[in-house]
Amino acid sequence: HADIAMYSAKEKGRNNFQFYAPTMNERAAKRLQLEGDLRRALERRELVLHYQPQIDVSTSRIVGAEALIRWQHPELGLISPAEFISLAEETGLIGAIGDWVLRTSCAQARHWELAGLGKLRIAINLSARQFNQPNLVRMVQSALADSGLQASDLELEITESTVMVDVQHAIRTLHELKSIDVNLSIDDFGTGFSSLSYLKQFPIDVLKIDQSFVHDLATDPDNAMIVMSVISLAHNLRLQVIAEGVETAEQLSYLREHKCDQVQGYLFSKPLPADKFERFLKQELGTEA
Ligand code: C2E
Ligand code: MG
Ligand code: MG
Ligand code: MG
Repeated sequence: HADIAMYSAKEKGRNNFQFYAPTMNERAAKRLQLEGDLRRALERRELVLHYQPQIDVSTSRIVGAEALIRWQHPELGLISPAEFISLAEETGLIGAIGDWVLRTSCAQARHWELAGLGKLRIAINLSARQFNQPNLVRMVQSALADSGLQASDLELEITESTVMVDVQHAIRTLHELKSIDVNLSIDDFGTGFSSLSYLKQFPIDVLKIDQSFVHDLATDPDNAMIVMSVISLAHNLRLQVIAEGVETAEQLSYLREHKCDQVQGYLFSKPLPADKFERFLKQELGTEA
């Protein structure tokens, strides 16, 4: 059957099509399967959040956590967000998944607060479609009200490309979110193309320096210079800076030296399931006294 398709494609003179046709069919079938699986993943409770601590550089204390989604697929194992968030975006499933992420992480943060594990700011990633959905602000308010978490303990992370989809709309949405006291951060800063004049108009609180710059700090003087410049840019705009992907003590000391506010990365902890993150918090509390 595939042979017939290839044959007729060749007959029509579209020679290069013959090699790609079967692969495309396979890919399409796989995608369709995954899409169906993802559709059912929420109700089957296959989605999980892992939490990665964010550490204040000057006090070495855990001040926040970023919630990062994973998909525990029954056959394929743990699937990373890089592999299914775009699928969720394209199919519209991101609406329901995003709402679940928001509600689950707000409830989790409130639980840790009530358990006396400290007041953590919880950070959540919003994809472009999520950020541009008309009911976003209401969804956020509802998740906060239902969990009892204060808006000032929630941070929403968006990327430069997300705000650039529709800048005027983005400015309005960011102001609405700011007016209810939610923290806002620009994720992967430096990898997109947001102009500095827009940055000035966004009511944001935090810049997150992309890990690609942090990674080669020690070996690439250009990256070291970029990191230093982003820190001073942020501070001059009265924003906080978080460095992502901090893996070595050397990177940390450079960031400390240049007054980076917070750090996040494998040097401290990988993203952990809720119970392990809780243990991590308790350990930190124990060593503080
Ligand atoms: P991101 O928000 O920039 O998250 C940082 C990524 O770097 C995470 O990958 C994290 O596990 C990883 N990371 C943290 N520390 C280190 C380190 O020291 N070294 C290295 N090499 N990597 C580190 P992850 O969890 O695979 O997430 C990838 C991306 O998927 C995220 O990038 C975010 O854009 C997106 N994402 C994750 N969770 C969600 C979600 O709930 N909703 C949406 N819309 N997107 C999400
Ligand atoms: Mg993020
Ligand atoms: Mg990032
Ligand atoms: Mg502020």
